[in-house]
Amino acid sequence: MKTRARIISDAIVLPVIFAILYLLVSGSVDTWTFADVVGTSTKRPVTEAFLPLRLGEVKPEGWIKAQLRRDLESGYQGNLDQLLRDIHTGKALLLPEENDFVFRKQNKDSRIDEHGRCVPPSEYTWWHGEMIADWQEGLIRGAFLADEPKAKRKAERFVEDLLKSQDEDGYIGIYPKGFRYHFAIGDGELWTQRCALLCLLSYYEFTVRKDVLDAVERAVKLTIRQYGPGKRYFHNPAQKGNGTAHGMLFVDVLDRLYRMTGDDEYRQAAITLYRDDFSTSKTVKNAAAQLNKLLDPDNPLSGHGPDAMGLIRVPLLCYYLTGDKTFRKAWENAFQKTTKNLGVGGSPLSGQQEEIMTKNQSPGLPYEYCSTFYFLHSLIWAMQKTGNPHYGDMFEKTLFNAAQGARFANGKAITYYSADERLWVRQRPPEGKPNARYIYTAAHYPSCCHNSAARTYPYAISAMWMRSRGPDGEGLAATLYGPNCVSTKIRGAAVTVEEKTNYPFAFDIDFVIKTDREVKFPLRLRVPEWSGEPTVVAAGAKVTRDKRGFIVVSKRWKTGDTVRLTLSPTIHGRPAVDGTTAVAYGPLVYCLTIPEKAEITQRFPHAEKVGLTGFYGYQYDSMDLATAKRPLKLHGDKPDFGFTVVTNKNSNPLYPWESIPLKLRGELIGADGKPEAVTLQPMGCTILRRTCFPVGTPAGDEASSVQEK
Ligand SMILES: [Zn+2]
Repeated sequence: MKTRARIISDAIVLPVIFAILYLLVSGSVDTWTFADVVGTSTKRPVTEAFLPLRLGEVKPEGWIKAQLRRDLESGYQGNLDQLLRDIHTGKALLLPEENDFVFRKQNKDSRIDEHGRCVPPSEYTWWHGEMIADWQEGLIRGAFLADEPKAKRKAERFVEDLLKSQDEDGYIGIYPKGFRYHFAIGDGELWTQRCALLCLLSYYEFTVRKDVLDAVERAVKLTIRQYGPGKRYFHNPAQKGNGTAHGMLFVDVLDRLYRMTGDDEYRQAAITLYRDDFSTSKTVKNAAAQLNKLLDPDNPLSGHGPDAMGLIRVPLLCYYLTGDKTFRKAWENAFQKTTKNLGVGGSPLSGQQEEIMTKNQSPGLPYEYCSTFYFLHSLIWAMQKTGNPHYGDMFEKTLFNAAQGARFANGKAITYYSADERLWVRQRPPEGKPNARYIYTAAHYPSCCHNSAARTYPYAISAMWMRSRGPDGEGLAATLYGPNCVSTKIRGAAVTVEEKTNYPFAFDIDFVIKTDREVKFPLRLRVPEWSGEPTVVAAGAKVTRDKRGFIVVSKRWKTGDTVRLTLSPTIHGRPAVDGTTAVAYGPLVYCLTIPEKAEITQRFPHAEKVGLTGFYGYQYDSMDLATAKRPLKLHGDKPDFGFTVVTNKNSNPLYPWESIPLKLRGELIGADGKPEAVTLQPMGCTILRRTCFPVGTPAGDEASSVQEK
């Protein structure tokens, strides 16, 4: 491990010193990998199938880069600091002058109760901390991945402010001195620390600034030493809000630190926090994620959707940190329980209060963008630790359908609550209770879902490749597909693989290899479950399958070598929770768009004053609700439900969600048994949509089974 330098107060000189030191040691920042610095820390009681690459080693290309850059430049993501206002005070809480990690204003009126516990002014004084740091983490990742200068400047400012805010004892957080760690009402101590520390860890991975890692280590060591027997965090006696329970995801920080440093204190802290603290609490929210409840396969998943989706990854982590099969069973059960709640778009169905809905499920139920994002994050861990390609399939389904279908392609707005089947987008729906979370808008307070949407593609990009190891040695695994470029070191050689494709709208994927010297390694390619037998063209390479189902392409690689993978999608059915069926082709679900009329219901005059235009909140109604709801069935007696794929040669490959490269053309069966010609579009290209249909025949018979791939 390289020498860790000490923190000095001068924040301007330090980066330069570290950059020079680092360049002297390694030659180039770009070729730094985890494998260079972590040494033995990758050794765990259970060997992980893959290792994450360092942030920045995978860079977006093609449409993913174009979308991310536009999100940062002219979308809400890069401008949320100007758009978002606290609805109570009118303040722009994301601007540096309101940074609650620096000023700790939200909790300045805290007091201590008769048991010595802290009492913040209210249950939700942690909310700004979460909103600030989660937005910044998406900004940091996006800025470096897309190399966008304006976002980078904002991210740099935030990191410097956060570093300066660190107290002498190491504390980074939102609570003033004397009012920390143990609380008598709901709090966000571990949660907001986690959000802020993930910003620093991401920044560290992109920049290799050791002072940043050092700051995180000091903060985390201070925090984990506040807890233990008799001083449990989750045994806070009154947890009405979710802030305390969110804190279980402090393990996101512990896992990354353990990977980076190999320090066993982080491993121990993660296990203790879940097994001895969270899982033994009688008061914690989201108790369905406690170890003993997960071990009971009949105890359904419940609680806050985003928490439930994040918490499923905790027992998985504990299994890999301990080798204890009890945790593995808990993870397997948690995952099984989750799949029972997924809509065809890949996100868990919820009720009006963001809760997991296990009863009366239908494709029209909403899902929160946060649930979608936290589920995606858990799937990345599942893919990386287990190496099971199924999690890659699930990730793409959720990303390209639920996540893409809840945002504008141009990045100007997202919807907090989306749904696979959507007949209206309204504050006051024609059916159901009023709920402001249903509209598309450039900013919503609280901004949790905007922050989740802002992190979705940056997280996906960095998970597109992972480092594989095994009997055939170190190599690279293509875990998700899309246009990108990965640069890393393998067996000491600098290797770049450019992935050229318009996936998920095209199924030819070309890999172009560059190396600084000839080097032999296996290139693993995921085979999606929806694909027939793919073809691989790779001159001079040995092509096999490994036991997990990955195609393995091996040879001594040199610059100019290429691999062409051609996947073979079919039109297939995807069963919905209520027995109806959605039509899919490749990873995309195709929907019937409903003619809609838009209405602007929200404006952002304060943002317009600083030159930000084109940002609004929107409601959508169908032109004719009765027609939109007309009975329709899929042709059960025709192959592919009678649909054929239509390609649009005029589609702009950089902006596919607006110029739709693929559609499905065919017929649905109307109420009278008469066919109706229709064209289905990817969910990600629609706002109001019909997605799930009964399968039947013109004569009125219901087909007995779904055509599922
Ligand atoms: Zn949310």
